Amino acid sequence: MTLVEQVRLAGVVGAGGGGFPTHVKLAAKADTVIANGAECEPLLHKDAAVMERQAVEMLQGIQLAMAAVGASTGIVGIKAKNKHAVAAVQAACQGTAVRVHLLGDYYPAGDEYDLVHETTGRLIPPGGIPLNVGAVVCNVETFVNIAAAATGRPVTTKTLTVAGAVREPRTLTVPLGTSLRECLAAAGGATVDDPVLAIGGMMMGETTDDLDRAVTKTTGGFIVLARDHHVIERKLKPAKARNAIGKSACDQCRYCTELCPRYLLGYAVEPHQVMRSLAFTATGAAHWNEWAAMCCACGLCTLFACPEELYPKEACDQSKAEMKQASVKWSGPTTVKPHPMREGRRTPIKSLMKKLNIAQYDHPAHWEPTVVAPQRIALPLKQSAGASCQPLVRAGEAVAAGQAVGAIPDKALGAMLHAPFAATVAEVTATHIILNRS
Ligand code: SF4
Ligand code: SF4
Repeated sequence: MTLVEQVRLAGVVGAGGGGFPTHVKLAAKADTVIANGAECEPLLHKDAAVMERQAVEMLQGIQLAMAAVGASTGIVGIKAKNKHAVAAVQAACQGTAVRVHLLGDYYPAGDEYDLVHETTGRLIPPGGIPLNVGAVVCNVETFVNIAAAATGRPVTTKTLTVAGAVREPRTLTVPLGTSLRECLAAAGGATVDDPVLAIGGMMMGETTDDLDRAVTKTTGGFIVLARDHHVIERKLKPAKARNAIGKSACDQCRYCTELCPRYLLGYAVEPHQVMRSLAFTATGAAHWNEWAAMCCACGLCTLFACPEELYPKEACDQSKAEMKQASVKWSGPTTVKPHPMREGRRTPIKSLMKKLNIAQYDHPAHWEPTVVAPQRIALPLKQSAGASCQPLVRAGEAVAAGQAVGAIPDKALGAMLHAPFAATVAEVTATHIILNRS
């Protein structure tokens, strides 16, 4: 069986948050395979933990991927500050065709456009993907899962960091479908009365207070904060209020653009121009929208750059959605030239944490062998980019650990789903498979 088929059968998807089905990536041809261990979301440490503990498995996954796509070079992008992880990865890679590329401690470092340029010097064409410049990029945990898939083991667990206002910040490996409530309990519980969670991180994550939500194949961690924390309040502001303040208060100072990592890398992203779409909706929104097309949604403009605390990132999100609905294709410049001030305008993580008012939560969150063994789990049918799984089981059925319980719909993009432990199927809904541990 080919690696592509093994990875498809194991349900491997991008574990960094993207969730793109990995078997599709591995079916391509490329000269370079890059492991993304940049992990730039403040307070999250799960990639560092994976590299520290599973460097050998990660390397095996990279080498398997290199063989599958025909690559002669492998690169691990990792922040120099993660000294233990760097040492483990360097030791594992010694004497192989995989080299370690050390990155500075800035945000964002994990954006594929940024990482590919940093590690190879290549610039992805506007609107393109790493493959356009001969590279396949996957998260470090994805490579561990590729190595497991090659031995017939499907993806049934997820490593994630629980940080912020919790008693014992930590990184855990839990069965897929475990509730956020159980993960929070494993970190000693919240230290604030009315906790709100930023799933996936403060910058690009989603905000929720639903502790019954399940850990999926893309959950890299969550940050717990009080509902009245300033950043949480900003994140919870309704779109109507965001747009109203943006329309009236943006003074076109350009700070959002001047610090935008995609703009600095040479792409035609200018959020200050996108802000005009809020004010000129009747006359020119379509024109101003185009300046959002290459935005990677890193959130730096909204949460760090804007002195007025407006919402340029959210304006870009809206503009991209409008362009998608109108089927607007990229018609801007096709050449890319990094800004001469790019290096000097990087945003250090420490400055970002200060601005976000989370520096007090900057603890290591080491991986702990805490046993999180839920009796009942709710496995979401959609845990990847593309279509939801089609259930392969019915209520009342017994399933074995690792048994496939969800399949990719015919001719669709998606990923298979497996039972993390032996269980009885309690219920199959339109969105979840509920399992009771046997
Ligand atoms: S930084 Fe804020 S005020 Fe300045 S142009 Fe951007 S959105 Fe407007
Ligand atoms: S979210 Fe803002 S800073 Fe980030 S890429 Fe988009 S426009 Fe640039």
